[in-house]
Amino acid sequence: MRVSVIHLEAPRIALILFMALLGGLLSEQWLLSILLSLAGYIGWTLYKLQQLYHWMEKGAKPGRTPDSDGAWERINYQVQRQQKKSKERKQRMSTLLKRFQRIIKGLPYATVVLNGNSEIDWANQRSAQLLGIEMGRDRGQRIDNLVRIPKLHKALEKGKDREIEIDAPGGQQSKLALQLITIHSDLKLLIARDISERVHLNEMRKNFISNASHELRTPLTVISGYLEMLRGSDELPDALRRAVESSDEQSSRMRNIIEDLLTLSRLENSELSEKESQPLNLAKIISRICENQIVLTQQREQIHIRVDSTLQLMGAETEIVSLCTNLIHNALHYNPDGTTIEVEWSLEPSGGGCLVVRDQGEGIAEKHLAHLTERFYRVDQSRSRAEGGTGLGLAIVQHIVQRHGGVLEIESEVGMGSTFSVRFQKEHLLKSSSFLA
Ligand code: ADP
Repeated sequence: MRVSVIHLEAPRIALILFMALLGGLLSEQWLLSILLSLAGYIGWTLYKLQQLYHWMEKGAKPGRTPDSDGAWERINYQVQRQQKKSKERKQRMSTLLKRFQRIIKGLPYATVVLNGNSEIDWANQRSAQLLGIEMGRDRGQRIDNLVRIPKLHKALEKGKDREIEIDAPGGQQSKLALQLITIHSDLKLLIARDISERVHLNEMRKNFISNASHELRTPLTVISGYLEMLRGSDELPDALRRAVESSDEQSSRMRNIIEDLLTLSRLENSELSEKESQPLNLAKIISRICENQIVLTQQREQIHIRVDSTLQLMGAETEIVSLCTNLIHNALHYNPDGTTIEVEWSLEPSGGGCLVVRDQGEGIAEKHLAHLTERFYRVDQSRSRAEGGTGLGLAIVQHIVQRHGGVLEIESEVGMGSTFSVRFQKEHLLKSSSFLA
């Protein structure tokens, strides 16, 4: 309910008027009597204001409310009410904050709160173990001055929220996954998890595949050698010829699988070094591969090449040749004869380079698209085998693309064909003004 101050002060105002009237009647000094009464009221009001001010200055404690009535009593009451409300709100906020801090403290992850300049605002206890950050000592310091890892510096500069894997700082043997989450322009969260066990298991898996492939390679080479010899022998009885031919084909399939597995494990186990990288004339590489494929398939008119011959890619030649060969080979072999195929290499408006292999063939159903780069994933098992595929081609392509900092995109529609696009960042490109030899 809205309370009128005039209404509350009415008795006092009436008393003042009465005093002024009485003083005027007794002294016949009307003006003086009114002025004195008004001065008394103003003086009293100032005194009350002073009391209120002192009380509020000292924290408006409930036990020390100034003695008053009328409007002043209401004002004191309202101040006290607001005071109580704000105290309750403060208490609620502080409980919430304590709870939130307890949750973050209890997390198995290191959590560091950063401001817009990447300076530390707050960090939990786990941050000390994983990142060597002590709240008391390091508050206000830039995180990349304490965790001196170029990948982190880059992530902070670019503001990318992608997870990065790093060796734990301070010479520990563990591996960490760091994730930078930008909540606001002046609020970022850095989360670090210990992923040593996951990395170790992954290493074990990779080593097992690599060792098993190495171990199988030598005996298989011997078997293949003998089968080839037998196959070429005139003395081979006709009854055995079919069996030997089939065994020879299967052993060569196994050799291809082993070679692809070894390629994959080599690609997985290392990052592309600067030494391996060189300027590549992709236009020339594409033309050469297409020529070879044309010789093999005898279908010249179906391949259309559109390439920017002034655009070079920085990369490892064997890998880029393998990437292009896989995509062009798939486009030719998983589609009916005579299907039109387009191969493009061009500069994008973003400054990056894009390799596109597009066919107007059968297309791939949507449910398969996300799995195509998995090892041994085939849309049609028997067809892939008949084409001599190992089921590892696109997995190899994906790894090569990642090693070159690119992205592989696959679009396809059944009956309409497929488009495989590889986008390389501008940092991996060289643009020369003249045509390359
Ligand atoms: P493979 O070594 O058996 O060729 P890939 O990893 O290269 O295996 O390809 C995986 C599967 O994707 C293939 O088995 C094939 O079914 C499908 N595929 C790949 N490229 C195309 C394409 N251009 N058109 C239709 N299907 C394709």
